[in-house]
Amino acid sequence: MLNLIIFGAPGSGKGTQSEYLEKNYNLYHISTGDVLREEIRKHTPLGETAKRYIDQGHLVPDDLIIEMLKGVISRANGYEGFIFDGFPRTVIQAEALTKMLNESGQEVDLLIDLNVPEDMLIDRLLQRGKVSGRSDDNEVAIKQRLQVYHEQTYPVIDYYKRVRKHLPVDGTGSIEEIARSIVEKVDAHLGR
Ligand code: AMP
Repeated sequence: MLNLIIFGAPGSGKGTQSEYLEKNYNLYHISTGDVLREEIRKHTPLGETAKRYIDQGHLVPDDLIIEMLKGVISRANGYEGFIFDGFPRTVIQAEALTKMLNESGQEVDLLIDLNVPEDMLIDRLLQRGKVSGRSDDNEVAIKQRLQVYHEQTYPVIDYYKRVRKHLPVDGTGSIEEIARSIVEKVDAHLGR
């Protein structure tokens, strides 16, 4: 099994690179943001609660996210592993993920950390906002999301550094260039 985390600030290209990695390694792609937006679209109780946090650029509480993930993980038959996109976003979520995977004898193999300068992140998100229709791709929510990233999500890196699973990647350049450099580094790390 191969369990990857695609990590980085909002606008770093996690979703885009996930699409490539899921095909390349036959992984089940879990984007917690996509799952939450689907819950909002269906007006479920989870969706209604999550929307209040998402629209303001805040994180949805850990217990709701962890519970939601348990349901999704059980659907991954027939794949070689997972690509977690937008999760974990806090150290508490990282600990919960370790526990969840351990229960089925698995672990996280690597955290791929997409590095993109802040001015480029803001530019990309504002551009995306023109077409995405996302309620959180506006200037106020973007600033808040970046602050939340620095304060609550960035420490997740240390959690994986301690167990030597942190893989930094330059997230600037073309989509193909970045994808190629990720695959090279992942393969090298796995000894493939
Ligand atoms: P994303 O699509 O990954 O940019 O996520 C959009 C929004 O959904 C985030 O700004 C959070 O409000 C919420 N969200 C997504 N994933 C998580 C998570 N793992 N923990 C908490 N909130 C999340």
